[in-house]
Amino acid sequence: MQLILMGLPGAGKGTQAEEINEKYGIPHISTGDMFRLAIKEGTPLGKQAQGYMDEGALVPDEVTNGIVEERLSKDDCAKGYLLDGFPRTIPQAEALDKITTKLDRQLDYVIHVDVPEEKLLERLTGRRVCSTCGSSYHITYNPPKVEGVCDKDGGVLTQRDDDTAETVQKRLTVNIEQAKPLLDFYKEKGILITIDGDQPIDKVFTDIQAKLDNEV
Ligand code: ADP
Ligand code: ADP
Repeated sequence: MQLILMGLPGAGKGTQAEEINEKYGIPHISTGDMFRLAIKEGTPLGKQAQGYMDEGALVPDEVTNGIVEERLSKDDCAKGYLLDGFPRTIPQAEALDKITTKLDRQLDYVIHVDVPEEKLLERLTGRRVCSTCGSSYHITYNPPKVEGVCDKDGGVLTQRDDDTAETVQKRLTVNIEQAKPLLDFYKEKGILITIDGDQPIDKVFTDIQAKLDNEV
């Protein structure tokens, strides 16, 4: 099953990706996570991406498309993949078409997790992520069992550098502008599934499963 998860920052893509990965056994591929890892490890890719990420701006397409092609070529994507955070622009979507055709790993569905913009600031500023496995928590809506500690692996929970009120606003503006043409692009292809993301986490996942199990 080849999927893309779409939605504004804070819509719950990472949270739902964990559930989808567990149930369907397909790798969760987040370009944002890949860039954050590269920065942490100080690789050349990390050095290229850092300035853009600090600003909440998009990393240039030639860099981003390259890492996606490399990742989708790996053996663990043979049974499917779940893209999160890519594509963000029409040129990226067109590049993805070429990549998936070349690899014979074409998309099945695009899942749009739809949440009203006014809910997102609170979700993002309250987000905490595991510094080891990247799992996402929320101080109010999805707290860990022990404050500041990941339920899964005991890692320390931290706040992302770009989850400050100021950068969040910039990311939302950039994303809102870019989301509409992409949603139209996939709607026209007849593969867009829209899910109400303004519901409890479990209910959002139940809705996603119901769609996938009926349609795929
Ligand atoms: P994204 O990957 O789309 O940026 P996340 O999955 O990291 O979003 O979720 C953003 C924040 O909102 C996290 O703190 C997460 O725990 C919380 N969250 C995710 N889904 C929901 C939901 N359905 N209701 C309330 N909070 C949620
Ligand atoms: P969010 O969607 O919440 O802003 P992500 O983790 O998806 O967070 O991305 C964090 C940052 O990584 C983005 O602000 C951008 O700088 C970079 N990035 C991630 N995905 C892409 C992409 N597809 N194209 C360009 N830059 C990207």
